[in-house]
Amino acid sequence: MPSARPPGIANRLVCPACGNDETFIELAHDVLLTSYYHQNSDGSFTHESDATQINGEILLFCGSCQEDLSHYHQRFREMIF
Ligand SMILES: [Zn+2]
Repeated sequence: MPSARPPGIANRLVCPACGNDETFIELAHDVLLTSYYHQNSDGSFTHESDATQINGEILLFCGSCQEDLSHYHQRFREMIF
């Protein structure tokens, strides 16, 4: 059965409160952030990399009206490329 919609358009996440479909905010609780530094010969430090471990809840909010969209978080994560 042919679809009237272009492929993929049905997968777009849209805020049900304000219709925003462009900006989203992910908020993670209880994040352990480990930062790696290299000390240079002059005693200064250069930041090399970070490792994050999220131990708490992860929430998703609309970037426009701050509506709680955590219900869509699983789908959101699957669509990050
Ligand atoms: Zn919104």
